[in-house]
Amino acid sequence: MDTFDVRTRSRCEMVDVTDRVQSAVGQAKINDGYVICYVPHTTAGITIQENADPNVTRDLLWKLEQLVPRADRAYRHTEGNSDAHIKASLMGFSQLVLIQAGRLVLGTWQAIYLAEFDGPRTRQVHVKPVAT
Ligand code: ZN
Repeated sequence: MDTFDVRTRSRCEMVDVTDRVQSAVGQAKINDGYVICYVPHTTAGITIQENADPNVTRDLLWKLEQLVPRADRAYRHTEGNSDAHIKASLMGFSQLVLIQAGRLVLGTWQAIYLAEFDGPRTRQVHVKPVAT
Protein backbone atom coordinates (compact mmCIF):
# COMPACT_ATOMS: atom_id res chain seq x y z
CA MET A 1 0.00 0.00 0.00
CA ASP A 2 1.14 3.51 -0.83
CA THR A 3 -0.01 6.62 1.01
CA PHE A 4 0.24 10.26 0.04
CA ASP A 5 -0.79 13.45 1.81
CA VAL A 6 -3.07 16.10 0.37
CA ARG A 7 -2.95 19.60 1.85
CA THR A 8 -6.32 21.28 1.39
CA ARG A 9 -6.72 25.05 1.44
CA SER A 10 -10.44 25.62 2.02
CA ARG A 11 -13.19 24.21 4.20
CA CYS A 12 -14.80 22.60 1.16
CA GLU A 13 -12.65 21.76 -1.83
CA MET A 14 -12.20 19.17 -4.55
CA VAL A 15 -8.55 18.20 -5.14
CA ASP A 16 -7.64 16.26 -8.29
CA VAL A 17 -5.41 13.38 -7.14
CA THR A 18 -5.43 11.42 -10.41
CA ASP A 19 -1.74 12.01 -11.21
CA ARG A 20 -0.69 10.90 -7.73
CA VAL A 21 -2.75 7.71 -7.98
CA GLN A 22 -1.30 7.05 -11.44
CA SER A 23 2.17 7.57 -10.02
CA ALA A 24 1.53 5.00 -7.29
CA VAL A 25 0.29 2.54 -9.90
CA GLY A 26 3.44 3.14 -11.94
CA GLN A 27 5.71 2.61 -8.94
CA ALA A 28 3.95 -0.67 -8.18
CA LYS A 29 4.63 -1.78 -11.78
CA ILE A 30 1.10 -3.09 -12.12
CA ASN A 31 0.23 -3.75 -15.77
CA ASP A 32 -3.31 -5.06 -15.49
CA GLY A 33 -5.55 -5.07 -12.45
CA TYR A 34 -7.20 -2.47 -10.32
CA VAL A 35 -6.38 0.09 -7.70
CA ILE A 36 -8.29 0.84 -4.54
CA CYS A 37 -8.12 4.45 -3.38
CA TYR A 38 -9.19 4.93 0.21
CA VAL A 39 -9.35 7.92 2.53
CA PRO A 40 -9.19 7.22 6.30
CA HIS A 41 -11.38 10.16 7.25
CA THR A 42 -14.97 10.95 8.22
CA THR A 43 -15.21 14.52 6.91
CA ALA A 44 -13.44 14.02 3.59
CA GLY A 45 -14.30 11.52 0.87
CA ILE A 46 -13.11 10.43 -2.54
CA THR A 47 -15.04 10.49 -5.78
CA ILE A 48 -14.70 10.52 -9.56
CA GLN A 49 -15.88 13.57 -11.45
CA GLU A 50 -15.17 15.74 -14.49
CA ASN A 51 -11.89 17.65 -14.59
CA ALA A 52 -12.32 19.53 -17.90
CA ASP A 53 -14.65 22.26 -16.67
CA PRO A 54 -13.84 23.47 -13.13
CA ASN A 55 -17.44 24.65 -12.84
CA VAL A 56 -18.52 21.01 -12.48
CA THR A 57 -16.79 20.56 -9.12
CA ARG A 58 -17.77 24.12 -8.13
CA ASP A 59 -21.40 23.30 -8.85
CA LEU A 60 -21.13 20.02 -6.96
CA LEU A 61 -19.85 21.79 -3.83
CA TRP A 62 -22.42 24.57 -4.21
CA LYS A 63 -25.32 22.13 -4.50
CA LEU A 64 -24.07 19.99 -1.62
CA GLU A 65 -23.99 23.14 0.53
CA GLN A 66 -27.61 23.83 -0.42
CA LEU A 67 -28.67 20.27 0.33
CA VAL A 68 -26.64 19.94 3.54
CA PRO A 69 -26.11 23.41 5.02
CA ARG A 70 -23.32 23.98 7.51
CA ALA A 71 -25.64 25.47 10.10
CA ASP A 72 -28.73 23.61 11.18
CA ARG A 73 -30.09 23.79 14.71
CA ALA A 74 -31.32 20.22 14.41
CA TYR A 75 -27.76 18.82 14.30
CA ARG A 76 -26.84 17.11 17.57
CA HIS A 77 -23.13 16.40 16.92
CA THR A 78 -21.44 18.99 19.16
CA GLU A 79 -18.22 19.28 17.14
CA GLY A 80 -20.12 21.58 14.77
CA ASN A 81 -19.23 19.78 11.56
CA SER A 82 -22.20 17.50 10.99
CA ASP A 83 -22.57 18.82 7.46
CA ALA A 84 -19.01 17.68 6.69
CA HIS A 85 -19.72 14.17 7.96
CA ILE A 86 -22.89 13.95 5.85
CA LYS A 87 -21.27 15.34 2.68
CA ALA A 88 -18.32 12.96 3.04
CA SER A 89 -20.69 10.02 3.37
CA LEU A 90 -22.44 11.11 0.20
CA MET A 91 -19.11 10.98 -1.66
CA GLY A 92 -17.95 7.73 -0.08
CA PHE A 93 -14.51 6.81 1.25
CA SER A 94 -13.10 4.60 -1.49
CA GLN A 95 -12.95 4.28 -5.23
CA LEU A 96 -11.90 1.33 -7.35
CA VAL A 97 -10.35 2.11 -10.73
CA LEU A 98 -9.28 -0.46 -13.30
CA ILE A 99 -5.71 -0.56 -14.62
CA GLN A 100 -4.90 -1.56 -18.18
CA ALA A 101 -1.43 -1.44 -19.74
CA GLY A 102 -0.15 0.30 -16.61
CA ARG A 103 -2.64 3.18 -16.89
CA LEU A 104 -5.77 4.06 -14.96
CA VAL A 105 -8.85 3.25 -17.02
CA LEU A 106 -10.69 6.55 -16.79
CA GLY A 107 -13.11 8.16 -19.21
CA THR A 108 -12.01 11.19 -21.20
CA TRP A 109 -13.43 13.64 -18.66
CA GLN A 110 -12.94 11.62 -15.51
CA ALA A 111 -10.57 12.43 -12.66
CA ILE A 112 -10.21 11.14 -9.11
CA TYR A 113 -10.94 13.79 -6.48
CA LEU A 114 -10.34 14.02 -2.79
CA ALA A 115 -13.46 15.80 -1.55
CA GLU A 116 -12.69 17.98 1.47
CA PHE A 117 -15.56 19.17 3.66
CA ASP A 118 -13.84 20.27 6.87
CA GLY A 119 -10.57 21.82 5.83
CA PRO A 120 -8.14 23.26 5.52
CA ARG A 121 -6.07 20.38 6.80
CA THR A 122 -3.77 17.61 5.68
CA ARG A 123 -5.52 14.49 4.42
CA GLN A 124 -4.26 11.05 3.52
CA VAL A 125 -5.05 8.92 0.50
CA HIS A 126 -4.16 5.22 0.69
CA VAL A 127 -3.59 3.57 -2.68
CA LYS A 128 -3.50 -0.20 -3.10
CA PRO A 129 -2.80 -1.40 -6.65
CA VAL A 130 -3.64 -5.07 -7.24
CA ALA A 131 -2.48 -7.14 -10.20
CA THR A 132 -4.96 -9.55 -11.79
ZN1 ZN B 1 -17.35 15.81 13.75
